[in-house]
This record gives sequence, C-alpha cells and structure tokens, in this order.
Amino acid sequence: MINISKKIVITCLCFCSFSLFAQSQLISNIHGYTIKDGQLVQFKALQFNGDTIEEVYTEHDILPYSTQANIVRIDGKGQTLLPGLIDAHGHVLSYGLSLMRAQLRTSQSENDAVNMVKAFRQQHSNMQWIQGRGWNQVLWPSNTFPTAASLDKAFPDTPVWLVRVDGHAGWANSAAMQIAGVDAKTISPEGGEILRHSDGRPTGVFVDNAMSLITNNIPSLSVDEQQTVLLTALNALAAMGLTSVHDAGVGSDTIKAYQTLENFNKLPIRVNAMIDAEDPNFAQLMTAGPIAAGSDKLQINSVKISADGALGSRGAALIEDYSDLKGHKGLLLYSNDALIDTIEIAMKSGFQVNTHAIGDLANHIVLNEYQRLIATTQSRHLRHRIEHAQVLQLSDIPRFAELNVIASMQATHATSDKNMAVDRIGNTRIQGAYAWRKLMTSGAIIAAGSDFPIESPNPFYGLHASVTRQDHQNQPFNGWYRKEKMNLTEALASFTSNAAYAAHQESMIGELRPGMKADFILIENDIFTTPYEDMWKVTVNETWVNGKRVH
Ligand SMILES: [Zn+2]
Repeated sequence: MINISKKIVITCLCFCSFSLFAQSQLISNIHGYTIKDGQLVQFKALQFNGDTIEEVYTEHDILPYSTQANIVRIDGKGQTLLPGLIDAHGHVLSYGLSLMRAQLRTSQSENDAVNMVKAFRQQHSNMQWIQGRGWNQVLWPSNTFPTAASLDKAFPDTPVWLVRVDGHAGWANSAAMQIAGVDAKTISPEGGEILRHSDGRPTGVFVDNAMSLITNNIPSLSVDEQQTVLLTALNALAAMGLTSVHDAGVGSDTIKAYQTLENFNKLPIRVNAMIDAEDPNFAQLMTAGPIAAGSDKLQINSVKISADGALGSRGAALIEDYSDLKGHKGLLLYSNDALIDTIEIAMKSGFQVNTHAIGDLANHIVLNEYQRLIATTQSRHLRHRIEHAQVLQLSDIPRFAELNVIASMQATHATSDKNMAVDRIGNTRIQGAYAWRKLMTSGAIIAAGSDFPIESPNPFYGLHASVTRQDHQNQPFNGWYRKEKMNLTEALASFTSNAAYAAHQESMIGELRPGMKADFILIENDIFTTPYEDMWKVTVNETWVNGKRVH
C-alpha cells in the first residue's frame, strides 16, 4: 500500500512539475507564419511552456496582460518566425566529415597550405588523422607539386593526408607514409603513380590509384569520433535553421553514436535516421524492429535502400537509352529478387521503406514492388517513400498518391542539374523529371530535402529553388520548366509539415499550434515579402528546439 501511494505521488510530481513550475514564454513583435492543413496562417505571437506550444496568437487575439507574472516575455524585434525547417534527406556523417577537412582551395602557396592545415588542427585536435582537400599547385607561384618535407616540419608525428582539388592526387606527410609502410621500395600500382625524388624516395604525392596506398590505412571512425563528427554537422545544420533532419542511410556504428548522444542529451536538433540496407547487421536490425528512443529527439523506424545511381554519372536506371549515350541505360544496384527481399523484410518488420530511385526504370520497378508488397504486408499506413523520384514516366506519377507513397525530393537538384538533365534524357522524358507540380496535382505529398553534402544543406537555397526553379544568378529567365514551380506556401509546407508527415511526426512538429513542440526559427527578413530572387540570402538569427535556443 505504502509503496503504491508513494508511486502515485512521484508520478504526480513528475507529471505536474513541468506545467506547475516552468514559466511560459511569450515571443511577440514578430511576423509569424505556419502551415495549417496545407494553408498559410499568419500570427503575431507564440507562447510555449517547456517544450510545448501553448498558444498561437493571430491578429485579433488579445495578448496576455503584461502584469501576468508567470510569463517570460521575449521581444521578437520585428523578426520573422517560422516553424523549424526539416531536411527530409541528408547525410549527416558525410556532411560532418566535409566540415572536418581542412579546406585548401584558397591556398596561395605550399607554405600557405601548411599554415592553413596548422590553423585547422587547432580547432579539430581530436582526430587521429588530419585530412584536407582543395590544393592546386598550378595556382601556386612554384607551380610544382608539394612534398612531405613541408608538412613534416609542422606535423612530425601526426599523419596528414590532403587531397588535390580534382580528387586525383593526394599529399601525405612522412608520418602517414610510415603508417602506410610506403618507402623507396614500394612499387606504383597499376593506374597510379608514386612521385619520387631522384634517389627513389616518395615525395609525398600519390596520383590516382596510388592514393589508396595511403587511404587504405586511414582508420575508419570510432564511435567516439563519429559522435564528434555528427555533433559538428548537427550544430552547423541548426545554424542554418534546420530543427530536424532525416539521415538517409546510417550503419549500426552511427546508430550507436546517435544513441549515445541522445542518452547524454546532446542532440541539438532532431534526427530521423534511416537504417542503411547495406549495413552488415541489417538482418538483426530488422528482427529487432523499429528502435524506440528514450526521447523525442531520435527516431529510427525507417530503412534506406538504393535502387540505382545518379543522372550526372549516367548511373540512373532508365527504360530507354540515355539521350547522350546510345546503348546505355544506366544501372540497377539490386537484382529484382534481392530488391524484393530487402523491401519485404523491412515492411514485414514494421519499417517505413525509403528507396532511392532516380531513373524512370528504377522508379517504375520500385513502385511496382511497393504496390505488390504494401498489399501483402498490409503496410500502406507506413507511408513508404521514394527518395529523389527524379525521372518519372508520366503514367507513374499518379501512383504515388494511390499507394500513399511520399515523394522525397530535393529542390536544389533541379537547379543544379538543369544544364545536364536535358542532355541525359531529352525533351520528352524531361516532362516527367523534377515534376513537382505534376506530382502535387496528382495528390502526392512532397517532402523536401537537400541531399547534403551533395548540395548545401541551407534550406533557404531549397525554398528559393522551389519557388523560382532558378540558380543564384537568376538563370534561366522565368525558371527552368517553370510550370513545375511551387508557390511559397507549398514550398514551406514541403520543408515543414510535409517533411514531418514523411517521418510520421506530424502530430509533434512541422506546424506551430498548441500541443506541438516549440521548434521554430527567427529570421531577419520576411520571406513572404522579400523578392524570391533574394530568398537564398536569408540568414537565420535564432533556432529553437523543444523550447530551447540551440543557435
Ligand atoms: Zn542521398
């Protein structure tokens, strides 16, 4: 009896403590916007308590009296307040790694490059290897390849590996060569070259296939190092106005790293991680089922499969030949049986299946298998997704809505690919490519993302591309296949409520209304009154997640 009543008291305290003791916070003097049932709603103040929104005040609502003592008031100073933006498709670890490479593009000389690496090291002291990229000896006064000697003076013991701007050569110091066991006796592999001094010793520069002599010896990241890299990335994403990200394909190590960060309450923004179907532990992860997290910051209940490659490298699987390469149709990455098995085991295990499909053949096959397996596994409610959905046969477009399949698309891919895509697929097939308007008209839901680090994660680049179909130089005039543009409300929905829906989180985030999490951003300019061409220049002043400022 005593035990039971104690329990009740404790439960009561936990339950009530937040609302009893936490003070409400009221941000007013703002231009607030949110999506509600697909429509744009404007508001003038937002009130939240702890992590939860209590009230959204629209134009004619009366704000609480200023004498009300239990409310902390924040002056929004005329800034614009939006729901926290969500990137539905990015690669957090790769992005973090790109931030943890010394960037040497602007180096003026070999010495300058070494100094840049030294400065970089002071900020990233916890990586076993120092890595960088971007040097180009042709732009240096010496116009000669650098050597290990200059790096050795600064880094006698720590291995250093710096990749040339084109990715076809790398520059190592002696510590790196020693770890790799490379010396005067090492033979250059086929398709590669070790540059040498006149006495046969390697200079430190390795070309093409010889690069792997060094890179094979760079240890893969420990779970600890992954945490550092993930945090670096997530903090950078927060600064851009993202409060949630869907990590498109993580292995079991990365899952561990995320879980540790979550356990220590270190995740600055939300992560919806998709399990990589190529992970060696995939079968066990499926048997274990979706991972229930301890908080609302981390969610792992989806799987990422890659059905084909990309359009630029002609790896996307097409039904007919590439328009600019006869006899070539691209490549499916799975046999049909293997694809079916992977989708089926994931669906049966209760996972949402998110399959990368770029070419019209890959999309057609994935839609076929989804249609069949959604029926046999009764998993329509899991809202399976196609990642990219880039080139579609017109007849496949209505199938997204019919099958309750989400189109997870990246607005900036359209503006980055515009000069290449017509070459690859010609004027007819382009009608079903990057076809946002046709998909929306058919009733499909588009969740927006960037596919960082392939594109910048800046969501304002994405919003800009969505409404203009133009690059940052406002090209082409009126926009590329302009009829496929979104309006700004649709674009904002694709980065908020639709992206939340695509992660089954629409009752928690994506819109600002009472009961939802207080995830929001404050930006300098009102995007609904600034010219579209300036949308990509928007800067984020503050980012809040769960009612706490994280940037
Ligand atoms: Zn991707």
